[in-house]
Amino acid sequence: MNSQPRQLLYIMSPSYSGSTLLTSLLAPHPDIATIGELKASKVSNTEGYRCSCGELITECDFWRTITEKITAQGGFFSVKDWRTHFASDNPVFNRIIRPVVHGPILETLRRYALQLVPGCQQALSAILDANQQVIEAVCQTHQASVFLDGSKDPLRVKYFYESGRWEMKVIFLTRDGRGTSNSDKKYSNRNIAEAAKQWREKIVEMELIANMLPDSQLLRLKYESLCDETEETLALICQFAGIAPFDAVQRRSAALHILGNDKMRLGAVNDVRLDEKWKRELNSDELDSFSEVAGLINSRLGYQ
Ligand SMILES: [Zn+2]
Repeated sequence: MNSQPRQLLYIMSPSYSGSTLLTSLLAPHPDIATIGELKASKVSNTEGYRCSCGELITECDFWRTITEKITAQGGFFSVKDWRTHFASDNPVFNRIIRPVVHGPILETLRRYALQLVPGCQQALSAILDANQQVIEAVCQTHQASVFLDGSKDPLRVKYFYESGRWEMKVIFLTRDGRGTSNSDKKYSNRNIAEAAKQWREKIVEMELIANMLPDSQLLRLKYESLCDETEETLALICQFAGIAPFDAVQRRSAALHILGNDKMRLGAVNDVRLDEKWKRELNSDELDSFSEVAGLINSRLGYQ
């Protein structure tokens, strides 16, 4: 293992908060290597699944190289079986490690359970190993020093951070909860109250992680600022990650291999447009309903 831990830049956010946009803006930086969401939970069926380069993931040269690299080092990797998601087929292990970040008391209980239940510690290590193998292979292939994981999930930050394997830099990305809840309503068939509750619970989890991290390892960022002041916001992130600002480096123009969204355009700063459709799509009953469930936490985040 390297003496200096690899830097892992992580986008932690609720769904529909601009994490894909942010990933696509950061991906062309030559010091950053990314594949989008390393948890790869959406690639459960590789049949017909396309990499962002346009190739089928089973045909893409990049993924072939990654598989060969990991296999040559004695590890296991297959695009059909990532093993990078913190979940397991073993229901006991699954109950212990999933699904959310808890408060300090329950997290202490979880730590005991992981130590006491046979096989749990090994299973957790195996997931961390799988993540580390992909991170190293992707960074080597891109010749980049920083790995960007856009997986969003706060629970991954917890396990990554506690493992001590990486130098974590976490972007705490939020968007006005009325915007995320409106998107959630449209795409997940929830009503606004349910969507607001989901969003609120995710923010609470993110705050638990924020309390765990030293200040220098956390950057709070708003989706709205990313859209309104894109260049300034990207400069801030580069400074946070300790890499050269974009205007000092040549944006990488070669194809990138990112999972999760084949329509994503990489690095198109000029195409960034703030989505505030919620302002005309939510009626006053829905706004009241949101406010009742999550208004307080939304205003605490600076959304009035
Ligand atoms: Zn590809």
